[in-house]
Amino acid sequence: PNPLPTLIRKKRDGERLEDAEIRSFVRGVTEGTAQQGQIGAMLMAIRLRGMDAGETLALTRAMAVSGRALAWPPAWHGLVVDKHSTGGVGDKVSLALAPALAACGCKVPMISGRGLGHTGGTLDKLEAIPGFCVSQSPEEMCSILERVGCCIVGQSEELVPADRVLYGLRDVTATVDSVPLITASILSKKATEQLSALVLDVKFGSAALYPTQESARELARSLVEVGTHLGLRTVAVLSRMEQPLGRAVGNAQEVLEALECLHGGGPRDLRQLVTTLG
Ligand code: URA
Repeated sequence: PNPLPTLIRKKRDGERLEDAEIRSFVRGVTEGTAQQGQIGAMLMAIRLRGMDAGETLALTRAMAVSGRALAWPPAWHGLVVDKHSTGGVGDKVSLALAPALAACGCKVPMISGRGLGHTGGTLDKLEAIPGFCVSQSPEEMCSILERVGCCIVGQSEELVPADRVLYGLRDVTATVDSVPLITASILSKKATEQLSALVLDVKFGSAALYPTQESARELARSLVEVGTHLGLRTVAVLSRMEQPLGRAVGNAQEVLEALECLHGGGPRDLRQLVTTLG
């Protein structure tokens, strides 16, 4: 494939990138041969020029295979499920939903993220618990799932490393709100998890990444289309976020509110969303 500056120029000028060119960009990101400035420039070119469904699928696939593959025991067939949200202020749904699904007999190998834009990150919330470690190897994940039924971990050098780099850089280059970049970020993590089924919480409103229902619907379509192409049984729920979810905002406060929810209490909007997605 062409050298990286040529690929950046192509996307900058609104041209389509070939699959091999997208793989070459992601390889540069993962192996560290691409400079931060080059990655930032490519992210901005994608944010401004967009990607078609084929390019988005190629980006998602390349990111999904950037790290180690996960594999589960055959006995878990049909039980491995997950949920992911596009992000919202006060969104602590994963903290309650993952253990709730585990209590129902599911296995939930959730690879999550940190704060993005003005929305909080599930990993940051969990780290409010003293000693909580969000970095786990595939072997450790398997052992936690065996014992507990769910785990919530971060991207790492082993797990979807391309998303780890791109996620951090999007947050500081004003390139978060891009349909292809969000789609590839979320689904690369979920494709790595080898799931039986996936539910996506696509949020809209001032407390979310996208302000309007129309823009969230476009994102939901992209997520379901690419997810289906990846062989993932994917459904999306559009949820309104004109205000924070629940009453608590702030990492430790949100953990406490998620625990209240698991005890059968907590605010009604949180309980409702956990139940709907579950
Ligand atoms: N969650 C992710 O994992 N990535 C995004 O881009 C947005 C929400």
